[in-house]
Amino acid sequence: MLGCYSVFMQKFLRIALQYANDHDYGDLEYNLCAVLVRGGSVISVGYNKRTTNAFVEHYTDLARGQRDWCLSTHAEMDAVLQARQKTDLSGSKIFVVRKRIDQTLGVMAMAKPCEICQHVLYNYGIRRACYSIDDQNFGVMKIENPANKYKQKK
Ligand SMILES: [Zn+2]
Repeated sequence: MLGCYSVFMQKFLRIALQYANDHDYGDLEYNLCAVLVRGGSVISVGYNKRTTNAFVEHYTDLARGQRDWCLSTHAEMDAVLQARQKTDLSGSKIFVVRKRIDQTLGVMAMAKPCEICQHVLYNYGIRRACYSIDDQNFGVMKIENPANKYKQKK
């Protein structure tokens, strides 16, 4: 899993974790932070929140039947929403961390982007996501065209 990009990736996961530590999540059960990175710089920072957003409404059919947190704003969506007016997001990468609330078992937890976020990221030209798994491990995922996924499922 640790390829030549691992130093780069760990750097931005650590930056995302710092943003998460500085953010007030209130009583939210999940504390996630996503940073969009292009050309080695952070272009936006997003946090999960309870409120819904235009993406979730757009992907209602996909969200239906999934866990209720799919109707809230995920950190990845928040990062895209904040940056999309300012800049072209294509070619950027997203780094997502989930900070544990109870840190007796470690600081970070699984933060793999859900299907709805993968749609959103793909549509904005973001093709690579890096996410925390736990304190020792992180995952890298290529964001595929969701249309191909549906074809495979049939
Ligand atoms: Zn999501």
